[in-house]
Amino acid sequence: MYLNFHVYHLTNLFFFVFHLSECHFSASQGLREEWLERTGPLSNEENILLEKFKEMVNKQTGDYPYFEERFFSSRLKAGDKTSQEIHRTLQAFSPRFKKIWLQDKPRLLYWQNKLLELTDSPKMKKSLGILARFFGTKPSQKAAKVFLLAGLSKHVGGFAVSKKQIIALECSSVPPHRADALLELLTHELAHLLFDKGKYKKMLNRKTAELKKNLDKEEVFSRPIEVCINEVVFTNLVNGYLGQKFFNRNLKSFAEKRLAGKKKITTYSDWLFYGCLHMLDKTRDYLESKEQINAKYLDNTCKLLEETTKGRLH
Ligand SMILES: [Zn+2]
Repeated sequence: MYLNFHVYHLTNLFFFVFHLSECHFSASQGLREEWLERTGPLSNEENILLEKFKEMVNKQTGDYPYFEERFFSSRLKAGDKTSQEIHRTLQAFSPRFKKIWLQDKPRLLYWQNKLLELTDSPKMKKSLGILARFFGTKPSQKAAKVFLLAGLSKHVGGFAVSKKQIIALECSSVPPHRADALLELLTHELAHLLFDKGKYKKMLNRKTAELKKNLDKEEVFSRPIEVCINEVVFTNLVNGYLGQKFFNRNLKSFAEKRLAGKKKITTYSDWLFYGCLHMLDKTRDYLESKEQINAKYLDNTCKLLEETTKGRLH
């Protein structure tokens, strides 16, 4: 897959307002607080604008608000009334955002160059080969756009919008010596883009529908159940298995420390660590015996979530 890396002011400004408004579950935890610390408290007028912005986002459906996609661009295209209203809000927040942009843009430009070089590395190619075998599909040859975004000072984050072949990486704080961590994150998001579809997606939907029935709810840890299962699958594969093999990471020992002494799993991130702790060995067995993902693998993950939500920890 060919990757284009972009550093756009408009996209970054949109995500600045997106996070300040706390409008969506996909927002990165702590980013709002950190940005307010760097740019000062909000005025009454700004609070009103953010409240309106939040309402507009909440009217949209789907994994990501549809108009988010319009902002993956260097320039805003003419749009409907909602789009114009959002544009006005963005303009109002532009002076506040300037401070963040001046500091973070040079670091994003650094990674724009560096990532182009790194994505050509053998470990990236091998990683995608291993995943392609597991999902029983060939990686697409289409181009994908990778947008680099300002992020937290101590965290890297990202997401993928599969239908649009778009990836976003919050990476402005990543120091040059942590290139492996960023490459691991890019591999995770790329894996969503390439393999989170088709036969696998159908199987996931079937299995999570059963689980929703068993649990008699649609969401756990404030996320749709299919998101909770899907994310454990991709975290185990990429951050767990490939992380250890290629990216200098030991997620299992990190998860052990993070969950030490906990008697209950109450947050989404702890669920991901817990899912890794209990599914990583199984995932390794599948990958090393060259077995493809199947219903049994997903059954194990679903069962783990079912027991976890009922408070029965292993
Ligand atoms: Zn993911």
